[in-house]
Amino acid sequence: MTKGTEQRLTAGEPSRCKQCRRVLPNQRTGRPREFCSQACRQWHWVGKQRAAELQLNEHELIVTKETLDQLHDELYVLACAVKDAERDLLAGHGKESARELRETLEWVLDAARPLRDRELPPD
Ligand SMILES: [Zn+2]
Repeated sequence: MTKGTEQRLTAGEPSRCKQCRRVLPNQRTGRPREFCSQACRQWHWVGKQRAAELQLNEHELIVTKETLDQLHDELYVLACAVKDAERDLLAGHGKESARELRETLEWVLDAARPLRDRELPPD
């Protein structure tokens, strides 16, 4: 991570796990946490070792096919839901009932939740 990025992150944005980018809980005392879990701390270390072995620079990374496939699947589901919602809103000509609008919104939210759940810890 470059110095500039770190400065941006400290300015108001929540701190995130250096491995999985999940938002870390607010912490008032002690050394700031860098990782959400011991597993992430270990994967980060393993990743750094592999990157050094393969001589990757800071802009390159290795992602498992499974992780990338899952992310693409979730993005595809969201893209389809956005398309459906746009089509429904266009077809409704602004005359949808509150219930219909709610159903459209819930459809998009259902598709977006898996991506949200990657980012934010459960309440
Ligand atoms: Zn993590």
